[in-house]
Amino acid sequence: MRLRNIPGAKDAIEDSKYVVHDVQEKKGKWAEVFGNHNPVHIEVGMGKGRFIMTLAELYPDVNFIGIEMYDSVLLRALQKREEQEKEGKILNNLFFIRMDARELPLVFEKGEVKKIYLNFSDPWPKERHAKRRLTSRQFLERYQQVLDAEGVVEFKTDNRELFEFSLEEVKEAGWKLLAHTFDLHHDEAMNKGNVMTEYEEKFSSQGNPIHKLIAGQ
Ligand code: SAM
Repeated sequence: MRLRNIPGAKDAIEDSKYVVHDVQEKKGKWAEVFGNHNPVHIEVGMGKGRFIMTLAELYPDVNFIGIEMYDSVLLRALQKREEQEKEGKILNNLFFIRMDARELPLVFEKGEVKKIYLNFSDPWPKERHAKRRLTSRQFLERYQQVLDAEGVVEFKTDNRELFEFSLEEVKEAGWKLLAHTFDLHHDEAMNKGNVMTEYEEKFSSQGNPIHKLIAGQ
């Protein structure tokens, strides 16, 4: 997702209390940022943020961080959050970061993250761009550098090619495939407690099956 450049987005992000800045200085100190030792779950490529905002509301004992690389997209999440606060929904367990997920190991210490969510990640269909896919072995290696030993990656997509590529990469990288389905919304066990993302709602309403995998190291 890349929205048209929105004038003022950069300043709004810099001024926002929901966004953590100078994130490399927070490495190893995320418990201080949140003020508690609850587990940290991150979403990489959160888009407009509905998924992670819903999770933060449902699970107050988990610390959530939404990561997005584009100002214009992150701004939408900030706006949504501001609207929710006006309606009285205050979330103390959720922050946002504007950054490229390639930098994850600079921002989190090994073991600081318990779960990584990847939802409807960009497919990068050209073979020469494979390493940009968020489920490529290069990204799995980065996730390994920040995840707790028991930590997992949960990935959803409607893109069959990307999903099959991801299953292969999990195997090649020596990770364990803990669960997977090619049709999440018709898989009672895996769909239990599922929170839909903006993309998931759009694609499933068009009749596309949603694929999901859970992988651990
Ligand atoms: N997760 C949302 C959903 O399911 O509705 C948005 C999906 S959108 C297709 C993918 C998002 O990932 C985009 O907003 C894009 O900017 C972001 N993204 C892609 N690569 C990224 C990276 N390397 N680091 C951070 N964000 C990234």
